[in-house]
Amino acid sequence: MSECLFCRIINKQVPARVAHEDERVLAFEDITPQAPVHILVIPKKHLSTVLDIGPDDHALIGHMLQTAGNIARERGIADRGFRLVMNTNPEAGQTVYHIHLHILGGRPLHWPPG
Ligand code: 5GP
Ligand code: ZN
Repeated sequence: MSECLFCRIINKQVPARVAHEDERVLAFEDITPQAPVHILVIPKKHLSTVLDIGPDDHALIGHMLQTAGNIARERGIADRGFRLVMNTNPEAGQTVYHIHLHILGGRPLHWPPG
C-alpha cells in the first residue's frame, strides 16, 4: 500500500518521531497532538479499519494494546489515566485509513467525547 500515508511512515518514506518499533508495530508522535501525550500505535500490516481485522490478527491487536500500555507507563501517564481510541469511518472522524490506536493523556480527558 505505497499510497497509504502510514505505510509510507513504516517504510521511512515519510519521517516521524518514533516512540517504539518492533517487527509487528510502530508507534510515533501524532503530528497534531490533542494532549500532552498523543502517540499513534499502528500495525506494520496494512488494515484500513477495524472492520478488516480477521481471526489471524488477534495476536497483533493484542500486541498493539500491550504496546500502548507500555508506552503509557514510559511516558508517566499510566497511573494518572489515559485514553485509547480507534476512530472508525467518517462519523467517528477517521482520516487515515490504516488502523491506528491513539494514546491520549497528560491532561484530564472529558467524557463523553465530542
Ligand atoms: P484519525 O483522524 O484517522 O483517527 O487520526 C489520524 C491522525 O493522524 C490524526 O490525529 C493526525 O494528526 C495524524 N496524522 C496525519 N498525518 C500525519 C503525519 O504525516 N504524521 C504524523 N505523525 N501524524 C499524522
Ligand atoms: Zn497502510
